[in-house]
Amino acid sequence: MWLWIIVIILLILFALDREIYFYEATHLGPRVQAWLYDRWARKYDRSKGESQKQDAEVLARPALEALRNVPAPFILDLATGTGRMPLALLKETTFNGHIVAVDVSQGMLEQASQKLEQSQGRFTLLRLIDFPLPFPDNSFDMVSCMEALEVMPEMDRPLEELFRVLRPGGFFLASRGTEASGRKSKVIGRDDFKSLLESKGFEQVEVITWWKWFDRVTARKPGQLTPSNHRTLTDILQCPSCKKINFIRAENNLKCHECGKTIFLSTAGIVLL
Ligand SMILES: [Zn+2]
Repeated sequence: MWLWIIVIILLILFALDREIYFYEATHLGPRVQAWLYDRWARKYDRSKGESQKQDAEVLARPALEALRNVPAPFILDLATGTGRMPLALLKETTFNGHIVAVDVSQGMLEQASQKLEQSQGRFTLLRLIDFPLPFPDNSFDMVSCMEALEVMPEMDRPLEELFRVLRPGGFFLASRGTEASGRKSKVIGRDDFKSLLESKGFEQVEVITWWKWFDRVTARKPGQLTPSNHRTLTDILQCPSCKKINFIRAENNLKCHECGKTIFLSTAGIVLL
């Protein structure tokens, strides 16, 4: 009897350990994920060395090349974590745009804020716990989501949302977890991943080998890209109450001019939606 109880407890602990450390709490919902990432934030970058060595060559420069006709690209980075993608873009001297960097975890965004300190005014950090994205259709010249689709509860919603807010002709940059990553329940084969993106409306989908655990994925939304001319978050942020876009920025909050809804900023300037 006691032996069985011990075996069952060990199995539960093993399952929890796998869920938390391997699947990053994917199946436990965004609030649990946000709580966990908040706890991991300070140490997070230490475990991410290998994958980030080629960010300039593999991510930032190809993205800017794809946006060469857009003088000041307006970019959304979903699941930005500690700001890897904004950092890679802002290091490029040819980049003259603005990045809206979104994550579920305030702790991770605080790390991003420290790393991006030199680039004040060229990015905005937004904490968002769940979908939908609070932006109108066709808002961004580029959307990215690196090494994160696999740790979301499912991929359909984020892909549909990224497609929706991307401008026609806009550039999509993401990743596919490889078979070697070991997250078996979340691995989608290359051809199926391509088909998945095409089923959401993307075209010119390309999946190339990047590093052991992730392939790089690029695509376009059909159409001719005309630059967004948006400059910052308040140009596109929809009020959660009245859905209008009319926020006035004060020192520590954004206030909706239509309905009075207030969204607070953290001391690090993170917009806490
Ligand atoms: Zn409002």
